[in-house]
Amino acid sequence: MNYCPGCGAGLVLRVPPMDTRERHLCEACGAIHYQNPRVIVGAVATWEDGRILLCKRAIEPRYGLWTLPAGFLELGESTGEGALREAREEANAELALDAVLALYDLDTIGQVQVLYAARLLSPDVSPGEESLEVALFTWEEIPWDTLAFPSVAWALRYHRQVQGRPGFPPDTGTKSRRRD
Ligand SMILES: [Zn+2]
Repeated sequence: MNYCPGCGAGLVLRVPPMDTRERHLCEACGAIHYQNPRVIVGAVATWEDGRILLCKRAIEPRYGLWTLPAGFLELGESTGEGALREAREEANAELALDAVLALYDLDTIGQVQVLYAARLLSPDVSPGEESLEVALFTWEEIPWDTLAFPSVAWALRYHRQVQGRPGFPPDTGTKSRRRD
C-alpha cells in the first residue's frame, strides 16, 4: 500500500502509539490503514457416487490448474453462504453443506481458509466465468500433479479420511509449518 485510500497522500510505515506492529500511516489525514488476513471460503463437494467437484482455473494465479470451488469471503456474508456462492459462481453447482472440513491458517500468505464438506444437489455442473472447465472426479482420477494449491490436496486427503464419519474435527494446517 503506497497511497492513502482516503486522501491520496503518500503513506509511511510506522508503529502507531499503543500498537506493536508497523502500519501504513497517512501523515496528511491521520488515518491508519490496517492490513489483516483475508478469508477464503470453499467446499469439497461430492455427488452421490462419491465423485468430487473440481474447477480448472480461468484466472491467475495458477491459471489452468485444478482447484476446489472457493474464493474470497464477501462483507455481510457468512462463511457457509460464501462457500455456496462460490460453488454457484465457479461451477453452477448447488450444494448442501454438511460441516466444516478444514480450517487452514496460511500465515505466510495472509489467508485463512474455511473449507466445508458438502454434497452436490445435482451432478449437472458447468463452468462459470472463473473456470475453464469443471468436472466430477473419482478418487483415482484426481489430477494431483495439476492441483492449484497445496491446501486443495490437504483438504481432499482429509475428506477421504473422514467421509461418512459424523462429528469429525476440522483439519488444520499452516503454510509455514505443514510439509505434506
Ligand atoms: Zn490520508
